[in-house]
Amino acid sequence: MQATVRQALVNGFKHQLEEGSAITLQRYSLGEIQPEYRIVKRGLRLSFLSNTIIEKCPDYTGSLYRFDFRPFRTITDLKTEEDDQFDVIGQVVACEDLDNYDKNGSAGKKKPITLIDPEGNELSCTLWGSYTQQFSDFLDKCSDHGKIIAVLQLAMMKVWDGKMCIQNGFKATRLYLFNGKDTISTDGFRDVEAFRQSLLVVQGNENSENTASRISTASRNNTKEDFVSKVPMNCIAELLDVGYGVPSIIVGTICAIQEEEGWWYLGCRTCRKRVVKSSEIVDLENETPPKPSGGPNEWWCSKCKTTITGIKTQFRLQVRVQDDTGTVSVSLFNEEVQVMVDNMTAYQLSDGLFPPEIMDIVDKKFVFKVSIDEYGIKKN
Ligand SMILES: [Zn+2]
Repeated sequence: MQATVRQALVNGFKHQLEEGSAITLQRYSLGEIQPEYRIVKRGLRLSFLSNTIIEKCPDYTGSLYRFDFRPFRTITDLKTEEDDQFDVIGQVVACEDLDNYDKNGSAGKKKPITLIDPEGNELSCTLWGSYTQQFSDFLDKCSDHGKIIAVLQLAMMKVWDGKMCIQNGFKATRLYLFNGKDTISTDGFRDVEAFRQSLLVVQGNENSENTASRISTASRNNTKEDFVSKVPMNCIAELLDVGYGVPSIIVGTICAIQEEEGWWYLGCRTCRKRVVKSSEIVDLENETPPKPSGGPNEWWCSKCKTTITGIKTQFRLQVRVQDDTGTVSVSLFNEEVQVMVDNMTAYQLSDGLFPPEIMDIVDKKFVFKVSIDEYGIKKN
């Protein structure tokens, strides 16, 4: 049951209300709760009164979490969103790169992950803000990413691209993460252990490696095998004779980062092209000053030729690579930069500011798989 304490009474009660502890309440009122304020399913809410008495209840034996897991299909089959918040459990089978979004000028973090149930139904889940950090921290300390189980308590649903997905709510959502390799023995998580067992029945221990590769944050394009066997090795001077789009391997030292190019930009979600604020578009062929079009959160993509609202932070780092035969300019894209960024505890997306972790690559020697595009060379 949802309980509320009026603002005026909060200071009087807050020191007696501790997360995870059990209490008894005397003198309170019960009333209906409006659907838009409803976090748990029940329509009734308990309200504290100024003379409500709170006492500690040390002999409480009930469950601490009382999950009520909602089957995936009862969410994914829906066409319109429901207001209620609910609990979900699933195995994490994929997660995309950390996505930095820019909402009303302030940067935040978002991480899309995919959950499956033992029947193989998939459910997309987006973690926002601090839940993203909690997930990344868990990945860092969890040695095996093949069997991660996620519990979202009091999640909410949201339609993305025509699909019913879930995400953390604005309030009250809790995220619990488990390494499904190990038995979960905590009493309160008995339901989670039951879920783990049902996964084991279906999967055994087989597809662990497969799953882990979809969760890995490392660059997905380049395996060691790629580097050593399939692609010819060239020195930089020889790249002049290599055709457009043909991959080759070079070994060189990064002698400079072209800082004026920055290391990130806001790109179109569809084509990745750099976007500009709609309100800042200057039409060079038009002599009259442009009329301010679009709201402050509208963006223009010159490749898609349309106004867009979906933007995504793209990483692109321009470096100068040198070997005994010459130097060449190489662009590092999302995956490569992301690997460096993922190792940072915090970074700031602001103009002209390079994190030390990135500056650190200067004067170091790397093996690059590169191909030449019409502008020069890019690494893929
Ligand atoms: Zn575009």
